[in-house]
This record gives sequence, structure tokens and C-alpha cells, in this order.
Amino acid sequence: MHHNTPLISTVVVGLVLAFVLGAIAQRIRISPLVGYLLAGVVMGPFTPGYVADQNIANELAEIGIILLMFGVGLHFSLKDLLSVRAIAVPGAVVQITAATVMGLGLGWTLGWSVGKGIMFGLALSTASTVVLLRALQERRLIETERGRIAVGWLIVEDIAMVLTLVLLPALAGLLNGEAADGMALSALAWPIALTLGKVVAFVAFMLVVGRRVIPWILHYVAHTGSRELFRLAVFAISLGVAFGAAILFDVSFALGAFFAGMILSESELSQRAANETLPLRDAFAVLFFVSVGMLVDPAIIVKEPLPLLATLFIILVGKSVAAFAIVRLFGHPNSTALTISASLAQIGEFSFILVSLGVSLSLMTERGRDLVLAGAIISIMLNPLFFALLDRILVDKKDAAVPAGEDMPAPREPVPVSTQTNHVVLVGHGRVGSVVSRALRAANTPLLVIEDNPGTIERLMEEGVEVITGNAAAPDMLQAANVGEARGLLVAIPDAFEGGQIVAKARAISPGLPIIARAHSEEEIAHLKFHGATSVIMGEMEIAKAMLAEIDDAAQAPGFSGAA
Ligand code: AMP
Repeated sequence: MHHNTPLISTVVVGLVLAFVLGAIAQRIRISPLVGYLLAGVVMGPFTPGYVADQNIANELAEIGIILLMFGVGLHFSLKDLLSVRAIAVPGAVVQITAATVMGLGLGWTLGWSVGKGIMFGLALSTASTVVLLRALQERRLIETERGRIAVGWLIVEDIAMVLTLVLLPALAGLLNGEAADGMALSALAWPIALTLGKVVAFVAFMLVVGRRVIPWILHYVAHTGSRELFRLAVFAISLGVAFGAAILFDVSFALGAFFAGMILSESELSQRAANETLPLRDAFAVLFFVSVGMLVDPAIIVKEPLPLLATLFIILVGKSVAAFAIVRLFGHPNSTALTISASLAQIGEFSFILVSLGVSLSLMTERGRDLVLAGAIISIMLNPLFFALLDRILVDKKDAAVPAGEDMPAPREPVPVSTQTNHVVLVGHGRVGSVVSRALRAANTPLLVIEDNPGTIERLMEEGVEVITGNAAAPDMLQAANVGEARGLLVAIPDAFEGGQIVAKARAISPGLPIIARAHSEEEIAHLKFHGATSVIMGEMEIAKAMLAEIDDAAQAPGFSGAA
């Protein structure tokens, strides 16, 4: 069966190679992203062997972007978006301007015209949605103040890019130095107004019509009880709105998907919708990285080392310094400024679209295009390092850099050991943990909570509870909670596998410590007991007992007919 199946081969070879190289990268302790990108290089036209279809790879990457932006929208309300506009709008504008000016400077030294320099700079100015969102999601930063600023910033960049793409053909003559008269400038007013008008019309349409129709559809489907139909509805809405937005309103797929998600964020079904899109979203995000790798000719590293270094300098240092400065100028703490800088120190899909348009309009040389593409792949590869560096700086300067109430990344270095003794250590402050904690505090029992959800941590700190931030299964967390001198440990998290690790670590520290853990099945009870839990409570069993007790009480109550 040797049919010509470019779509299947691109998906299959892409995923298989990305998996193999990603797993190797993970094994040698570098980010799997590097593996995905290299998989793309291997499948690309510049290396021998199999060459995948670039157009198909790009379209698959677009689906990844749609699903990612939809997922982000699900965690975002209009209020969140508007709350960061004061910083996101000037921030994105200043950063785009800074990158364009620097690009112009580099273009000038390379002997390009002003138009080509501006085009080159513009291509370096916008960060990749996928890279940024993945980095924030991995660190659970999306729902924090700095995550919101970064996403708001991204949205502004996205709108700026939509404008740029529309205006470029009209501007091409001017930038190529052909018709530099006042006429051309006034002729731009109309396309600008039209494009912004369409963005506004799309947003208004979503807020008025979408806000009613989309949650209604999802609620309706949820009530049918069919999981399959619900999943399908979520995909149909995210992809359908993104596509419709692009066709009808000329806005980007990403922007369309973001709004589709945002409309749903107020619905109680948003969490379920987010969970449904996760696996597909991850698979397509991987294909995004593969498609980036395919664009790059690795030979450029030896052919043009100095211009490439200068390009990288603009992306990694120039843009970061501009972002850092503007965020600080607006009075935000170092931690926020550093997170924004690290998030945006890369370029991606917008640059690819811009360079191909630039080449077709004679506004970019092939050399410029190759520099942008190589700059993209290297900056994406280096991005995880930036975040690792950020974690280091923030942990080192924890007290100075992070004001009270600001979220913290999971600590990588030993946390100071709690001075509490004879206290209860509670792991997880969700549906179960919060009830336990309320009762313990009411009884004045000394308490220490280990929790990894930034929102919960902030609340607990405000209430004066001692909290250790991060995953309780990470090294040193239990020592930091001083479990050795605690009166007991309550592991109130739903994942019994992780719970088992926590129990085992605590048992190693203190052989006599009472450890009570949470489970959902007989197997989990056995697992937790095996690792040293003193007793294990199975949620489902307790629910069953409570139900039986209720029905017993009801049966004994006067007037029970069996039907109530
Ligand atoms: P629930 O299932 O509603 O009781 O929520 C469980 C809570 O435990 C959530 O707030 C999670 O953020 C938190 N959690 C889950 N796993 C861990 C972990 N390994 N370390 C610390 N907190 C955790």
C-alpha cells in the first residue's frame, strides 16, 4: 500500500521522530522542545532522507495554536484582559518598536535598504504564542498576575501583527522607496481603520452573540450525557470559531480561538472543556515545533555566524531589556519584569508568516529570511534555559524580588525548615484539605500546609497560615515542613501515586509519624499502605457510608414513604 499520503506521513513521522528525539533530550536533561525541533530539522528539506510536506506541517501547527489559545481563553475573563491593558498595550508597542529599530540597525550594517531593515526588525519583534504559553503552563503561571500580563501582551502583539499583515502590501511600495509621497500615507488610513473595525466587530459579535450561544450549546450537550458529543462540541467550537473569525472578520486564528475560550470561561463547564482539549492540544503543539524545525537550514550557523549572533542578540537580549525596562517603569516587581522578559525572548510563527510575505513583496532578502528562521529555532531552544535562569534568580532573591502575595515558582533550592513543632502537616488544600484545615484552625491546632496552586497559597498566606509552596513530592519539602517533629501528616491530594511518594518520604524521615492518606480505590489503599501510611481513607467508601446513614435516618423519620 504505497499511496501518496502526505498528511498521514507528516503526522506520523513528525510525532514518532519528535517522540524519540524528545525522549532522548529528556534523558540527557535538556528540554524535550529541542528534540521536537531537531525532529523537524531531520524531516526538513535541508537534510538528507525523508522530506515532509511543509505546507501540511504548517497547517497542523496552526491547529496547535488554535487549541492552545482556546485553552488559555478558558482561564481568562474579559475582566482579566482589561485589567492588564494599562501595561500590555504600551509594553507590546514599545517592545515591537525597539525590536524594529534594532533590526533596522542590523539591516543597515548588512547593507539592506531601510524598508528591508524595518521588515527584518518587525519579523524579530513578536513572540511565539506556543512557546510562551507552554512555558507559562508548565510553571502554572497563566493564572497569576504576571501570567495575565504576559498573555495580555501577547494578545496586543497578535493584533499588531494582524494589522501589519494587512498593511504590508499597501506599504510595500513606500518601504521599497518607490512612492514616498503624502498620498501613500493617507491611503493607509483606510486599511488601518478597516482592520481595527473588523477586530472590534468580531469582539462585539462574540460578546453579544457568542456569549449567549456558545455556553448554551455546551450546556445543552453536557445534558445529553454523551461524553463523546461533549468532546466533539468543544473541538467544534474552538476550531469553528477560530476559522469563522479568520474567514469572516480577517482576524488571526489565534485571536478567534482565544475569544471562543474566553466566552466559555465564565461557564462552570470551562474546566471540563479545558480537560477535553488537553491531549490533542499537546500533540498539535509538538507538531508546531516540528514544523518550525523543518524551515531551518542548519548550514546558516557556519555560513553566517556573526549576523546570526547579532540577530540572536536582538531577540534574546535587546527585546528582553526593552520589556524589562517598561514593566519596571510601570512599577511592577522584578519577578514580573523578569518573567515577561523570559517569556518574550523568542520568536515564532508570526515571524515565519512575515518573512514569507516579505520575500514575496521583495521586502526581504533570502539571507534575511534565513537569519530570522535560524534565530527562531535557536531562541526557542534557548527559551527553557531562560526560565531556568529566572527560577534561580527568583529563588536566590526570594525575599527581595517577590512581594507578599506574589506567586512563587516551585522552589529548586532547600526551603528554610519550619520552626513549628507538634503541628499537623497538611498536603493539598483543595476540596478535602480545606475542610480539614478549617476544622483544625477552629480547634487552634498548629498547622502547616504544603500546596502547589498559586491562588490557594496566596489566600492561605493572607489568612496567616504557614504555607510551603510547591509539590510535596519534590526533594526537601517534607524536611522543610519539619515532619520529623510533627504530630501527624495528612496527605489530602487526589493522586495516590504522588501521594505514595510523599508517604514514603515522610516515613523515611519519621518511622513513628501518624500518616493519613486519601485514596479512591482498593489498589490505591494498598499502594499507600505499602509505602507506610498509617491509615488510608477512601473517599468513595465514606460517601457510600454517609449515603446509607442518610437513608437510614430518613427511613426512621416520620412520614417516610420511600419515594422522597
Ligand atoms: P482536591 O482534589 O480538590 O482536594 O484538591 C487537591 C489539592 O491538592 C489542590 O489544591 C492541588 O493544588 C493540591 N495538590 C495536588 N498535588 C499536590 C502535591 N503533590 N503537592 C502539593 N499540593 C498538591
